[in-house]
Amino acid sequence: MPWRGPDRLHNLVGLPRAAFTTLGCKVNQYETQKILESFEEAGFEVVPFDAPSDVYVINTCSVTSQAGAKSRYAVRKAARTNPEAKVVVTGCEAQMALIKGDEFEGADVVVPNPEKLATLDRFLSAFPGMKPVAEVGPAPSVLSGRTRATLKVQDGCDVFCTYCSIPYTRPGMVSRPAGDVLAEARRLADEGYHEAVLTGVLIGAYGPETGSGGASFEDLVTLLAEESGLARLRISSIEMHQVTQPIIDLARDGRVVPHFHIPLQSGDDQVLADMGRRYRRDDFIDLCRRLRVEVPDVTVTTDIMVGFPTEGVEQFESTLDLCRQVRFLKAHVFRFSPRHGTPADAWGDPVSPEEKQHRAVTLAQLTDGIGREAARRFLGRTMRVLVESKTHKDGTLEGLTDNWLTVRFHGPESLKRTLQSVRLDEEANGTLYGEWVSAERANSLRMVSVN
Ligand code: SF4
Repeated sequence: MPWRGPDRLHNLVGLPRAAFTTLGCKVNQYETQKILESFEEAGFEVVPFDAPSDVYVINTCSVTSQAGAKSRYAVRKAARTNPEAKVVVTGCEAQMALIKGDEFEGADVVVPNPEKLATLDRFLSAFPGMKPVAEVGPAPSVLSGRTRATLKVQDGCDVFCTYCSIPYTRPGMVSRPAGDVLAEARRLADEGYHEAVLTGVLIGAYGPETGSGGASFEDLVTLLAEESGLARLRISSIEMHQVTQPIIDLARDGRVVPHFHIPLQSGDDQVLADMGRRYRRDDFIDLCRRLRVEVPDVTVTTDIMVGFPTEGVEQFESTLDLCRQVRFLKAHVFRFSPRHGTPADAWGDPVSPEEKQHRAVTLAQLTDGIGREAARRFLGRTMRVLVESKTHKDGTLEGLTDNWLTVRFHGPESLKRTLQSVRLDEEANGTLYGEWVSAERANSLRMVSVN
């Protein structure tokens, strides 16, 4: 249907509406927030993705075929919600379509990944009639009001794991200058955020060679810990060979939280080699042991792939065995799917969907049980919890400890988005239930433990 001009679709206050959704990783989430802010500053009203809007922006993901399918579903959903709206896609699935020379069905504008932050300009060049009459400046965004902000520090991957399309869709290795990251972190602290999650496609590659302005990743974290005003810094996901001694020291000293998300992918040496992963299972086990020894209260979470073309039953058993040894707090289990242009794409997909399903369920059951045990180790402790904005139906508030334990407790609404002390009393389905310890009581407990 042809575009009929701003008055046809704009809402009652006359601003064109824009809606956003993100598939995939924290880097994508960060970038969506930046795109959203550019639309807000240009005068668009930001509305939820399931509401009628004049433009829908979908930041897509191609990491698995399921992520790609969800990205395309989001495009169809937008068209259903408002058939007259314009649909803009960017992100890795959109980039993959550009690489293959395919059309992205249902999209009016496809913005290449490297130009993602210029999505507004690309959209307005295609549809100049959509430009708001006057710029209204920044408005409170639908994504604000959170306790935790994502802070992108690095982009690009040059590892080329054999199953992964990301080095093709995000090829440029870039580190943000440390001064820019610090300025953004200070702004987040001023806006009331307590925690920043430092994200990058290959965050451990942050450094002077790719534009940090001379800072190593350790320098950056130290700078943020000392000068940003944020109470908590978290590293979103880091490759195991990039968890260096200085990074471990930062966690031991409390400059980043004692929680590491380290992708494992497989616990079998041959599969790891076939995947192009640059470590062996014993290296991974040793690293997790060292973390436990050196960093008080540390927890480790991970990603594991099942059904890689060379993963047989024996290799899968090796992964189960590693999980029993390492005892992850949480594991994200996902299934291999061939990605266009990757080496593994040429190896076919010999593990049947039923077998992949069986392995995924078996692994998830094992890691869920282990994760519950890992959480129960903290029962009886009083821990610092960053309280989220939601209230559960049973009236409990929910939050996360520094080391990524999910905690629920009863307390006044005024505790939302603040750091509180909670004594952990019970565990159910991996969630810890506890009792709020008021600030005065927490202080007296601290004095008792010091004495
Ligand atoms: S490290 Fe491997 S899995 Fe991670 S983004 Fe790079 S190529 Fe993909």
